Amino acid sequence: MKASILLIEDEKNIIELVRYNLEQEGYKVFVSTRGNTGAEEAIRRKPSLIILDLMLPEMNGLDVCKTLKANDMTAAIPVVMLTAKSEEADKIVGLELGADDYITKPFSPRELLARVKAVLRRSQEKPKEKTLKAGDLEVDTGKHIVTVKGKTCELTSKEFDLLQILMEARGRVLTREVLLDKIWGYEPSLNIETRTVDMHIGQLRKKIRSESPRIVTVKNVGYRFDDES
Ligand code: CA
Repeated sequence: MKASILLIEDEKNIIELVRYNLEQEGYKVFVSTRGNTGAEEAIRRKPSLIILDLMLPEMNGLDVCKTLKANDMTAAIPVVMLTAKSEEADKIVGLELGADDYITKPFSPRELLARVKAVLRRSQEKPKEKTLKAGDLEVDTGKHIVTVKGKTCELTSKEFDLLQILMEARGRVLTREVLLDKIWGYEPSLNIETRTVDMHIGQLRKKIRSESPRIVTVKNVGYRFDDES
């Protein structure tokens, strides 16, 4: 069965373009034209993916994204943002809020489908379950639970992915570009995008408390996870 997609967008021509192209590919498409009802629809429909416009009546896209990521019922649903060129700063905020990808308007149907497929594929990949350990830090990749000294750390899905990738590569330096590509799935074209990685690393360090020195900044390169205690 093909995936279902919830489109939260108020511009008629964009709705038609997106709906037509996704339906042609066999996806089931739901549309919501307001931010607040969009978040409610997401809970009701449990779509495989959400395409979220940033400029919406009632509640803007960033607030919708925050609402979706804060709710257990919708937190795991991947979100692709629709942004205008002038909304560059919002795009970064969106990624920081947990959006998985973005498409800049105007976009071609081909780009839309490529992004949707890539995000769906990433969200459906089931990684092998295992427990990663370093000092007092334990990561259960099956249950998505991170603990330090047995106390749970509340990580977002991106922070979790970041920690897992760093731990799996322990001792090796991973560049921001590699991390961006592995976690967000795209080649960074703007310097600003690599700052998203720095921001997530900052949050992650705070959350793993006493084990934070294990995430070492390698100046002008990237990050390394230190195994030694
Ligand atoms: Ca709009």
